[in-house]
Amino acid sequence: MEGSVPHDRSARRLTVLSGPSGVGKSTVVAEIRRAHPEVWLSVSVTTRPPRPGEVDGVQYFFVDDAGFDRLVAEGALLEWAEFAGNRYGTPRGPVEERLAAGVPTLLEIDLQGARQVRRAMPESRLVFLAPPSWDELVRRLTGRGTEPPEVIERRLEAARVELAAEKEFDLTLVNTSVREVCSELLTLMAD
Ligand code: 5GP
Repeated sequence: MEGSVPHDRSARRLTVLSGPSGVGKSTVVAEIRRAHPEVWLSVSVTTRPPRPGEVDGVQYFFVDDAGFDRLVAEGALLEWAEFAGNRYGTPRGPVEERLAAGVPTLLEIDLQGARQVRRAMPESRLVFLAPPSWDELVRRLTGRGTEPPEVIERRLEAARVELAAEKEFDLTLVNTSVREVCSELLTLMAD
């Protein structure tokens, strides 16, 4: 909300990157992790099995259903959502610590999670990462080659719903080039 007075200065620093599955959020995040250590990236907890190359504690903390249930019961998650048959959540403590210390903090989460963050921390900035076109999104989702067809179909269905939510976000970045999106994201996080 431009021009409004933040009730909590540190919460202004929380930036949420969301958008349809396959749009390239994790590529953008990987580039920020590689080239911009000044930005702190929250590491989510998930019940999804690791993809090849994913390392526990880097892309995600991988837990089983019972472990996830425990975190929910303890109130240890700032937000969580079920996405395409798996659960994903943001550990609350580390985010609150970084915000309190004034560290620029970035969450990469799905739309349901972004809505929960908006309610919990209204001053956070919600950024929608959009594909250059629907065809390009389908191509990316199909081309990843790591998921069976029924999982891709579920993700496409989720993407249709997620694309319609763009208007709920503070701003949109179109993912034409990873480098450009990163630079735009860093510019707005420096505000
Ligand atoms: P993937 O399985 O492709 O890594 O992620 C699937 C979806 O879950 C993506 O849209 C990603 O942004 C979202 N996601 C990852 N971590 C979290 C989280 O902590 N909370 C929520 N709500 N969504 C998440």
